[in-house]
Amino acid sequence: MSATIIDGRAVAERVRAQVATRVAELARQGVTPGLAVVLAGDDPASDIYVRSKTRHAEAAGLRVFDHRLPASVDTGRLLALIQRLNADPQVHGILVQLPLPPGVASKAVLAAIDPAKDVDGFHVVNAGRLALGDPGIVPCTPLGCLILIRSVLRELAGRRALVVGRSNIVGRPMAQLLLHNDCTVTVAHSRTRDLPAICAEAEILVAAVGKPHAIAGDWIRPGAVVIDVGINRIEDAQGKSRVVGDVDYPAALEHAGAITPVPGGVGPMTIACLLVNTVNAAICAACGTDAPLVRPEASLDH
Ligand code: NDP
Repeated sequence: MSATIIDGRAVAERVRAQVATRVAELARQGVTPGLAVVLAGDDPASDIYVRSKTRHAEAAGLRVFDHRLPASVDTGRLLALIQRLNADPQVHGILVQLPLPPGVASKAVLAAIDPAKDVDGFHVVNAGRLALGDPGIVPCTPLGCLILIRSVLRELAGRRALVVGRSNIVGRPMAQLLLHNDCTVTVAHSRTRDLPAICAEAEILVAAVGKPHAIAGDWIRPGAVVIDVGINRIEDAQGKSRVVGDVDYPAALEHAGAITPVPGGVGPMTIACLLVNTVNAAICAACGTDAPLVRPEASLDH
């Protein structure tokens, strides 16, 4: 058996096209969704992520407000900037690129963002809404994973789902999204015993560990949908650097029913969902509500 490869680039392109259509509709009502991007310091990886987010946002018709700050920036200056952006009606979404420079109180900075503009979905108010099953802004990566799962599985209700990883930005919100979609969800982590046996039961497996080959191919239940969130840089036998996921991909192809590659799987969806969240935030602002009326994933079947 050879798995269907879930083309994250193609699905992300469709999501971005849908975003562009909504942006054009909003433009007719005199609204241009605005995304403020805050980058502090000179981390090269963060610079690449921010450039990519900016490029895609502008291509979809969003207005981007770029705020670059030196690595020496302190918490007070960042908090003052966040307050200005919170008050600016042209800004509908605020993205603070992590990690912030050492010495900055990252939690305080993220907590200062208006939950209605928290397009990363990291604010405690949005995390709480997700935990309660209420509409709110959902973190981009798990939202993207859910769309990819739905691109190959029509019916999620009753499916046995396993999320490996319990971070606040990926594993935990992913588990909650699957639960809201009526899956029977297991969350595994570094203290989990007998992970292979748990994997063997999973019809849906989301790996968000951050370790290459954390999930062996022959652990995967035959026919399972496998979403690999991991981004790990390794050196191959020839000493060449390349990026791999958390799943042993060549071996997994023989067991899974469908699987995302790395790169070209989850990564493009994270950026596409950032645009979705920003446009939804602009729609909410235009309607005078502080949270979306429906959960963002509800309108995003592909
Ligand atoms: P974290 O390091 O915050 O979380 C990793 C999780 O994996 C933890 O819950 C940890 O358990 C668990 N874990 C570690 N080792 C094992 C193990 N051997 N078996 C089972 N579970 C284990 O990482 P993130 O959630 O932030 O990111 C995960 C991966 O996803 C990274 O590679 C990251 O780069 C990538 N990523 C990709 C994105 C994309 O757009 N494609 C976006 C965000 C992240 P415990 O809680 O017990 O420590």
